[in-house]
Amino acid sequence: MKSLTSLLRTFAVLATFFARLACSAQSQIALRGTIVTPDEVIENGVVLISGDKIQAVGAAITLPKGVVALDVDGVIYPGLIDLHNHLTWNFLPRWKPNRQFSTRYEWQAIPEYGLALSTPHGRILSVGLACDTNQYAEVKAIVGGATSVVGSLDPSLGPPEQRKCIQGLARNLDFFSGLYPPATGNSEKLRNEVFPLEITETNVVAITKALDNHDLTAFTVHLAEGKPNDPNAAREFRMLRARGFLRPGVSIIHGVALRMADFQELAKAGVGLIWSPRSNIELYGDTADMRSAKLANLKIALAPDWSPSGSDGLLQELKYAATWNEGQFPKIFSDAELVQMATSNAAQLAGLQDKIGSIKPGYFADLLVVRRVAKDAYSSLLHSSPADVRLVVIGGSPVYGDDDLMKKLAPARQLEAMKVCDVPKSLDLESEAVLQGTRPKPWKQTLEELNRALNEWGLKSSSANALS
Ligand SMILES: [Zn+2]
Repeated sequence: MKSLTSLLRTFAVLATFFARLACSAQSQIALRGTIVTPDEVIENGVVLISGDKIQAVGAAITLPKGVVALDVDGVIYPGLIDLHNHLTWNFLPRWKPNRQFSTRYEWQAIPEYGLALSTPHGRILSVGLACDTNQYAEVKAIVGGATSVVGSLDPSLGPPEQRKCIQGLARNLDFFSGLYPPATGNSEKLRNEVFPLEITETNVVAITKALDNHDLTAFTVHLAEGKPNDPNAAREFRMLRARGFLRPGVSIIHGVALRMADFQELAKAGVGLIWSPRSNIELYGDTADMRSAKLANLKIALAPDWSPSGSDGLLQELKYAATWNEGQFPKIFSDAELVQMATSNAAQLAGLQDKIGSIKPGYFADLLVVRRVAKDAYSSLLHSSPADVRLVVIGGSPVYGDDDLMKKLAPARQLEAMKVCDVPKSLDLESEAVLQGTRPKPWKQTLEELNRALNEWGLKSSSANALS
């Protein structure tokens, strides 16, 4: 009986998944605007979306009969890909320890950290709000331009409802990306480890084998996080090497303590770097030696890290990185390179370069439309803010954006009103409703419940960061 029930449940999940594909395959949307693919800029181009994929892109494409291109009055970029985050912490207020640290182990051991972050985080997650923290963070990521995130709530660690609640909305690349058909276990090909040196020998063997046979195409590890001259942070690199993880598919998050010779070794081994300058500078006073990383020809992605010390999202981190870059003499990166770090480079480090991160036919229709704030389309993204986001599309479904566009692209009954920096926006949680088989909690309720929980701890809502 039990196996029949589970068989029926599996069938229902598959039916929902394929029904979604079949249903969305019929819908076609065309968006007109400047397109940044991101390798080239197409002025006055059109992206034709069919179902959940991009069907055609260009300045002179023929639209199917009955499809009219919607002028988005902005620049269309691939949805941004955030490879470094800790989503369930992003509802917490900004952390201001008023000092700098040598390594991450130092701040993780002080009482202020427990008081401001880890104790309330643990308690709020344990009182039934774990799914809410993840939903809050997904909306926050989308508001900041991302369509894919890493560092989600681990659905296997909590009660049964937790196994479903991260499905839909943003792609959770480490647990449920929506890029593969559902499986009994985790079908994702990306694994994220915050403490890679603590994993057991058995897991080292299992991960190595998974990378060998391509069950895993990406292994992201937090490493060498501390001051640039800290010997302990530097030592972690040698420990990672000893475990055999300097190999293609692996990417190091942080790498602040790494030197030129290390970057050259990484580049030779096909290891990538995920750069999070804001969080590094806030906690350690400096960030990775990006001039050497660039000279060594490393593949680099940019990501915001968690909200307490990093940025509120990728748009904010791009602006931070661009400002930092302007302060280097000579400048290290071009504007186009910075945009690629949050799109095509990130897709490559996630092992998803044939699915997301570029606007090309056959790719998933994950798109970000932003008001043009500068003549150059790359520079425009670097200098825009969340209020400038016109539209976010994930897998062909418009999920968030300005009211004028959302009302044209989604049924009004699905839209929830919200405000970002006092600018009215619309949010559509329909993808969660379809995949989870139940209506998700409305955004306003999620916000209220998290704010109430924070108040009980005497903490201010992080939505001083402008989400309401
Ligand atoms: Zn981190």
